[in-house]
Amino acid sequence: MPGAMTESEIVAPGPAAAQVVERAEVEEIDLVRFLYADHGGVIRGKATSRSRLAERMVTGIGHTVAMMAMPMLDQLQPVEGMGPVGEIRLVPDPATYVSLPYAHGSGAMVANMVRLDGKPWEACPRAFLSQAAAELAAEGYVLVAAYEPEFTLGRRTPDPQGGPDRLVPVDDSLCYSATGFHLVHDFTIDLVRALEAQGLHVEHYYPELGHGQQELTIRHAPALRAADNHLTYRETVRGVAFRYGLWASLAPKPIPDQAGNGAHLHASLWEAGPDGKPGGRNVLHDPNDAYGLSETGYHFLAGVLAHLPGLLALTCGSVNSFRRLAPQMWASAYTCYGMDNREAAIRICSPMWSDVAGSTNLELKPSDSSANPYLALGAYIHAGLDGIRRRLDPGEPVNIDPATLSDDDRAARGIRRFPTTLEAALDALESDELLMEALGPLRRRAYIAVKRAEAAGFAGRDAAFESFHHFTKY
Ligand code: GLU
Ligand code: MG
Repeated sequence: MPGAMTESEIVAPGPAAAQVVERAEVEEIDLVRFLYADHGGVIRGKATSRSRLAERMVTGIGHTVAMMAMPMLDQLQPVEGMGPVGEIRLVPDPATYVSLPYAHGSGAMVANMVRLDGKPWEACPRAFLSQAAAELAAEGYVLVAAYEPEFTLGRRTPDPQGGPDRLVPVDDSLCYSATGFHLVHDFTIDLVRALEAQGLHVEHYYPELGHGQQELTIRHAPALRAADNHLTYRETVRGVAFRYGLWASLAPKPIPDQAGNGAHLHASLWEAGPDGKPGGRNVLHDPNDAYGLSETGYHFLAGVLAHLPGLLALTCGSVNSFRRLAPQMWASAYTCYGMDNREAAIRICSPMWSDVAGSTNLELKPSDSSANPYLALGAYIHAGLDGIRRRLDPGEPVNIDPATLSDDDRAARGIRRFPTTLEAALDALESDELLMEALGPLRRRAYIAVKRAEAAGFAGRDAAFESFHHFTKY
């Protein structure tokens, strides 16, 4: 076979991989998971044993191409190029290795999807984000991001009426209440320790508004690492909860009459340093602007707002997402931005006193943990970059709750209500040429087929069915 690797090349991992193998030996890790996020936003993967790790880090683990045509209801969709014939390899990135504090003897890495010729597969979500980051870097910028995830801690409980299992929250503590801290203390400390042990630095924690709802945020990082961190975070929250016999759900609305779970996306934009890492200056900051935001920052956010209806199909990717995105829920429902406005789609965040320039950032509210974080962040970069390239103007900020404006006032200010269903967001995505082009033929074909199947799978079903299938997956 021309160009094939020799056996000695196959079994010789690079230095980063060799370090992972050594760590697995020292820590007596028996199984290492190679994980990815699929088009349904579900985290899946395969694992290899320690004795096979060195080789598998080079060759990857074989995987059917069809899994990226699999919705979150596990009903495989017919997608051209993702049938029963064909193979990719799950090749892990050694830089993402973590020993799992909540699963003894196990480690995990995030995997890239690689074609048999060694090139990135056209439907690999991580490659999509890497390519978006590279396009941004070609313009001289690095996006630094942090998710602000919320989740509901509860128990999976049979429905007395014989319906689907429900998520019953662990407590009914008040928003930010000190009692809420007490009630879930043991779980929270284990969670913080587990995250820190995996190199995810905890920024904040507090009991949130909804019953059993928690918010715990992780320090920012360059985009690819931020998405990897979010995958690790989702795994850790659930893994630690399972050890307590609990279910933690990051689904956008796991309990219909309780506050939704957002995963607001905070981002700043840095001059790229010579090594491709964030350089010296956050280009979002301008001390002379009334809101501290630079011209580049306004262009970036204008790009995001312009693409938001379609972008939502990627940042709020599930049927359940649209139950959360309602006016006056602090989750956002309108395409507008404002200074510290928690009802606006984009909030210009007031900076920290300790580092005004560095901490200037934009917060995207319509973002949740049922999305594939690689696709969401990659598409967000494309949208913002489009705003910079076309020097888009976002208009005036909205510094009141947009729901309190009349329809005419909103129309006059160019404020649009978001699509209110996944179907409608997918229609907007399909008519968004920039995002469709960025996704590329195979990925967009598969993503849209998967998401249309999910919309169809919940059509005509009740909220209990929807809740069950979302809180058990996300
Ligand atoms: N839970 C709200 C959401 O769904 C966010 C509340 C807040 O942190 O401001 O996005
Ligand atoms: Mg919150």
